[in-house]
Amino acid sequence: MTRPHDDRFALWRAPAQWQAVDFISDIHLQAGEPATARALGDYLRTPVALRADALFILGDLFEVWIGDDTLSDPDGFAALWAKELLDHSRDTPTFFMCGNRDFLLGGDALAACGMKGLADPTVLEFRERRWLLSHGDALCIDDHEYQRFRHQVRSADWQTTFLAQTLAEREAIAREMRTRSEQRKRSMAHDPALWADVDTDTAREWLRRAGADTLIHGHTHRPATHDLGDGMSRVVLSDWDALTVPPRLEVLRLTADGLLQRRPLA
Ligand code: MN
Repeated sequence: MTRPHDDRFALWRAPAQWQAVDFISDIHLQAGEPATARALGDYLRTPVALRADALFILGDLFEVWIGDDTLSDPDGFAALWAKELLDHSRDTPTFFMCGNRDFLLGGDALAACGMKGLADPTVLEFRERRWLLSHGDALCIDDHEYQRFRHQVRSADWQTTFLAQTLAEREAIAREMRTRSEQRKRSMAHDPALWADVDTDTAREWLRRAGADTLIHGHTHRPATHDLGDGMSRVVLSDWDALTVPPRLEVLRLTADGLLQRRPLA
């Protein structure tokens, strides 16, 4: 039985035979961080018998994605990962929701990676329960500066203009945006109260409209489970970093009995 809900939310109904699904986010794959990339490769190559029935990637798989034409270099970083993901998807359905780093990952890249694209947010119906999935950045509404930026870069106009530039020009713009974002983060580092987080009222409103009890999201890099009251909760995925002690390499597994389990990979 599901609660009354707003049908405008995108919906994915899990096939009845699925026993478990895995969620990951915020891997931030980049050529300069081979240890974390290796950990993802190891996870994707888990023997099929030990895998969940599907993998849901909830954004920021890549540190940056400046256009699907980066796949045209067959020996490039993007093409290498497309092949890894495609191999994985042959046995295990793989779903991808954009994050704030890889929101330009489009239809060509989804096809090359064997991934099915998901809208943000999407309701996953699994064993008659509804789970609300999001990257999470749209819910950090207190960060007005970021929300303005998000609105701009998610517009069709901005994206068309950006993608019309050469790869080198796009790389330069992405570098500059990244530097600005790092500077901003550093300027707020002294005061955790300034760090944007998911707004509780908005999360509760989304859950009510989605007819779901549990929101699963990434983005904030603050893995935790928050009680939102009235039986609602917010489960935050871990970001990945193989070089911290202990390493942050974690998969969240949802099983048929409705339990969520954090599974450290190292
Ligand atoms: Mn993010």
